[in-house]
Amino acid sequence: MADTLPIKRRVPLSRLTSLRLGGDAEYLVSASSAKLAVEALDFAAKRQMPVTILGGGSNVVIADEGIAGLVIVMRQRGRSERQTGAQLFVNVAAGESWDELVRWSVQRGLGGIECLAGIPGTVGAAPVQNIGAYGQELSSVVDSVIAYDRSTHTSVKLDAAACGFAYRSSCFKAQPDRYLILRVNLMLQRDAAPTLAYAELAREVAERVGAAPTLAQVRRVVLELRGNKGMLLGDQGQGFKSVGSFFTNPVVTRANALAVEQAARAAGVLAPQETMPRWPVADGRCKLSAGWLIERAGLARGLTQGRVGISPKHALSLIHHGGGDTRSLIQLARHVQYRVARRFDIWLEAEPCMLGFPSPPLAPPAEGYASGVGSGSASLPSP
Ligand SMILES: Cc1cc2nc3c(=O)[nH]c(=O)nc-3n(C[C@H](O)[C@H](O)[C@H](O)COP(=O)(O)OP(=O)(O)OC[C@H]3O[C@@H](n4cnc5c(N)ncnc54)[C@H](O)[C@@H]3O)c2cc1C
Repeated sequence: MADTLPIKRRVPLSRLTSLRLGGDAEYLVSASSAKLAVEALDFAAKRQMPVTILGGGSNVVIADEGIAGLVIVMRQRGRSERQTGAQLFVNVAAGESWDELVRWSVQRGLGGIECLAGIPGTVGAAPVQNIGAYGQELSSVVDSVIAYDRSTHTSVKLDAAACGFAYRSSCFKAQPDRYLILRVNLMLQRDAAPTLAYAELAREVAERVGAAPTLAQVRRVVLELRGNKGMLLGDQGQGFKSVGSFFTNPVVTRANALAVEQAARAAGVLAPQETMPRWPVADGRCKLSAGWLIERAGLARGLTQGRVGISPKHALSLIHHGGGDTRSLIQLARHVQYRVARRFDIWLEAEPCMLGFPSPPLAPPAEGYASGVGSGSASLPSP
């Protein structure tokens, strides 16, 4: 089988990631079909080789030492559709571009993902962290996910409940060695009104477009907002090398939130008339703004540490200026974590997947901190 698989040796991974960082893949297969991807899995299983899946590389931090074993890059394309009443079910291959899909859906007058415009990466990776922005989350439009279960060597169809979606999480993120996502079935609404659940977006749309905006107008405003925050990639953006938000927004108890607010006042970084931004989530806890915590911990946008830094546009985005290495980025991320922890007793959790590290490089210290990840869908600070 090795003869038929297009396996390459020692492939630099930095150019396959939005951070432009990381060492080599020991072996790499670019899978242009689901069949090829499954064959590559079998190939690795027979040789007891570790496997790492890569989509567009926009949510990964890869170690300077690279990744041992086989890296499978998901490149399969294709889309089919089926209409049922007001709903259109779209079945999309894992290697399709997410942002292209959003553009296509908006052009077709299909609602449900217009606020997720401008998120880089592939359709197959979208369920992994249940992508979300500007008042929409992928989970609300997922009908099912077709995946290859590496524990049973069979293809499975997981409905939305089985995907275990939560805030920036899913069963795919929780069990990274189990599923290879092959296709995603989305349920989009025909002739739907755009979602304007996110206050900043609703305000901007009202100002720029007025009443009764179209899906296309909302998509455009989302792209403009993202552009202003440096949260677009490549030609669309300013060319920052990043993973978007580097940390998730912490979900804490109300008592913890109060303690954070008091700590901010005690440190003189919250004026008497100011309140700390927070959003209630379903289980009675609150979501805090990680970007706010970083800035109020004294780390300014634009801060530079060697060849890495904090984006001048958004405190939540760590960027690579070019010519740097992953080690420096991790050092900066830990510096941010410790500064926030010292001031607010909150440990920020990294959002991207850490690949090729012998142990999680940004895990909290043993003593623990008041942070966590919830499942609410409250309006969050959007990128
Ligand atoms: C500028 C910028 C802005 C961003 N804005 C947002 C945002 O607003 N909201 C948001 O949620 N995210 C955002 N992101 C993060 C990122 O774009 C998303 O998480 C995206 O879904 C990652 O897709 P990818 O194909 O690049 O995945 P990759 O980075 O290649 O992989 C991410 C993870 O998914 C796994 N994976 C990939 N494909 C598969 C598959 N087929 N089967 C199983 N596992 C797989 C990988 O192993 C890895 O663990 C942003 C990133 C950037 C650079």
